[in-house]
Amino acid sequence: LSLSQLRREYLRGREREDLLRQVAHTDPLTGVANRRALNDQLVAQVGLLSRGHQRLSVLMVDVDDFKPVNDRFGHAAGDAVLVELAALMSEQLRSSDQLGRWGGEEFLVLVPATPLQAAHDLAERIRKAVAGHPFRHGERVTVSIGVAEGVPDESPEQLVGRGDQALYAAKRDGRNRVRVTADPRADGMAGRSEEHTSELQSRLHLVCR
Ligand code: GH3
Ligand code: MG
Ligand code: MG
Repeated sequence: LSLSQLRREYLRGREREDLLRQVAHTDPLTGVANRRALNDQLVAQVGLLSRGHQRLSVLMVDVDDFKPVNDRFGHAAGDAVLVELAALMSEQLRSSDQLGRWGGEEFLVLVPATPLQAAHDLAERIRKAVAGHPFRHGERVTVSIGVAEGVPDESPEQLVGRGDQALYAAKRDGRNRVRVTADPRADGMAGRSEEHTSELQSRLHLVCR
């Protein structure tokens, strides 16, 4: 085996590895990260957060009334909505943000180096982009979004759980909405100035636990 043949073999092996890794980390329908890849990222980023290196916010995005879309237009149309939605959300993100399919019609976005207010604004941009998008099956689609900012020493599960709570509140409040969670370290809203609290409450539709 000549040196150049060896080199070629080696590179081919590397390509195969890359391809396998990509397949293992990608949701086949939408092409965004799958839950496994997203979870790996989440754990890594929560680790950085605990060491005080970087802030992290998460967006839990769930399609509103998706079951009727499948029922009325068929499963293939439902699939197409998910594909369009993933592309639409990607357009709103920075390269450091990580969008993935958390399951079914639910997506999770990891937004590093971003405090709650900015994450809320991003969620609102996504919500508006989706609500204004003419989907191919001809009907409007909306999403509800729960936003949470990680705090040090919180587990990935706790952070995602708070995102879920906020998502639930967005659904409960009528869908096509963004809701954020309160900082779990604050005892209720104690420790915050009245002014700051009411300003946050009204601007961010804060979900109090
Ligand atoms: P809500 O506003 O409360 O979220 O209502 P919903 O109808 O979106 O929620 P529900 O959990 O009742 O239904 C989710 C539906 O999403 C049911 C399921 O068939 C559909 N779904 C999940 N994954 C896929 C998929 O990959 N493709 C298609 N076409 N449908 C999917
Ligand atoms: Mg839904
Ligand atoms: Mg759902």
